Amino acid sequence: MHKIKKLQTQLNMANNNREYQLLKDQIAATEMTNSVTADEVLEELERIDVFAGEIAEAESAVAKARAEQEKVEKQFAEEEPSLRGDLARIEAELKQAEAVLPDDFKPLYHRAVNARNGDALAPVKGEYCDGCNQKVPLNDINKVLVAEPKPLVCRACGRVLYVPENWSQK
Ligand SMILES: [Zn+2]
Repeated sequence: MHKIKKLQTQLNMANNNREYQLLKDQIAATEMTNSVTADEVLEELERIDVFAGEIAEAESAVAKARAEQEKVEKQFAEEEPSLRGDLARIEAELKQAEAVLPDDFKPLYHRAVNARNGDALAPVKGEYCDGCNQKVPLNDINKVLVAEPKPLVCRACGRVLYVPENWSQK
């Protein structure tokens, strides 16, 4: 724009037609160049707008992910002590329960726990071991249902079997 003003001042002081026309052409050419440049600047500004939008979106996604992470970390920090407490309590209860096992039951139980890593017990379901679905002889089940029951171990999987209170043969 500055350049055009200067040319217009020169145009006003033109000494002859030829000089006048020359300056006029020069003004037109400068105006054309300026308008092309203005278009390019506008395009560039539009692209910057698009980028700014994309950056804002990405920043908001990052902020959201960060907030989510903080939430999970806080939740974990809040719950961890209580979960550890639960675990300690359950382990203590398990020790107590194991301590009162009948003596003839203890070796079988501990052997099964060692062999099966915590998956040592299974209920009898009908005439089947609920742990491995193999048939348990009815004769063996009956030995558990008497007044002084004998420990029962599944012959197929080695789990110590127990007969639930609501057990029925079918
Ligand atoms: Zn079994």
